[in-house]
Amino acid sequence: MSEFVTLGKSGLKVHPIGLGANKISDADPSTNTEYGGDILLDAIDKGLNFIDTAFIYGDGKSESIIGETLKKHQLRQDIVIATKGAHEYVNGEIKLNNHPDFLTQQVEDSLKRLQTDYIDLYYIHFPDEDTPKAEAVGALSRLKEQGKIRSIGVSNFSLDQIKEGNVHDDIDVVQDEYNLLNQSAESEVFPYYREKNISFIPYFPFASGLLAGKYDKDTQLSDRQKSRPQFQEPTYSEILSKVDQLKSLADKYNTGIQNIVLAYYLSKDVVDAVIPGARNRQQMEQNLAAANIQLTAEECQFISEVFPSSFKLK
Ligand code: NAP
Repeated sequence: MSEFVTLGKSGLKVHPIGLGANKISDADPSTNTEYGGDILLDAIDKGLNFIDTAFIYGDGKSESIIGETLKKHQLRQDIVIATKGAHEYVNGEIKLNNHPDFLTQQVEDSLKRLQTDYIDLYYIHFPDEDTPKAEAVGALSRLKEQGKIRSIGVSNFSLDQIKEGNVHDDIDVVQDEYNLLNQSAESEVFPYYREKNISFIPYFPFASGLLAGKYDKDTQLSDRQKSRPQFQEPTYSEILSKVDQLKSLADKYNTGIQNIVLAYYLSKDVVDAVIPGARNRQQMEQNLAAANIQLTAEECQFISEVFPSSFKLK
């Protein structure tokens, strides 16, 4: 695999393993998390150039850490930044807002936090109920004409909303949930992405770490985890056994199961890059190695048989 790939028709050249930066604002000595800026610097040092953040990750803190770190080390020009907006605090409550004026202000605020004068990829993070999607995407098209953003994305949009927003073929990238436990995007939306040369970035690639091969039957689960469907029995045991079947492939490539999973996503024609979330440097470094794995057609077939698209969380 070449080191950099182009994200669909956006022209952005990125390392296929991006850094999902939702956890980099979590640094807290009491939980032994590392300072996000250090994880970022190490990632860049190892060759990563693509960072995925959003206003809502730490209420601007993830963006601010990225902005400070890149400025301090004069690295802005080497990095492709994707960020997102749509969340508005109204009387202390979060509401979704896609109004053109609000999105325009959100971009201005992100530019300040990121300490830059352009954002490489700006997504509407979630659809709101009211704004026609052509108007929302139209606001981003104007910001692109002004040079404030370089390409346009949407996230968590239904196919109808994507089509509505894409009347002028302005959408470059779609980001949505897709992983081995939820492959519905493949039949529902991949054909449209193919037709429109839209790059698809799957989020939640490890389904909370469950597909990263770090759990077994003896793992102590938190109450929060236990409340999630993938951690409920008998589904949990079924998933563990499926993940275990990827071990032989991981051994063959002398890597971890999480990299087999990432390489499988990257084998999909509409997926140019993935953005695994990393809590620390070790995870980030481990995940970067997935870029060197080129699964064969037979190996991809094997994975799709272990995790058939019909497999659904009960
Ligand atoms: P994820 O990538 O599925 O899971 C991340 C978790 O997997 C990490 O926190 C860690 O769990 C575990 N992990 C990562 N690398 C590992 C490794 N090498 N070995 C063992 N465990 C490993 O989920 P995510 O962080 O929620 O999503 C990824 C990115 O997608 C986010 O950073 C964000 O940028 C984006 N995202 C976007 C949306 C959206 O609405 N557009 C929504 C969600 C996420 P522990 O924390 O337990 O160590």
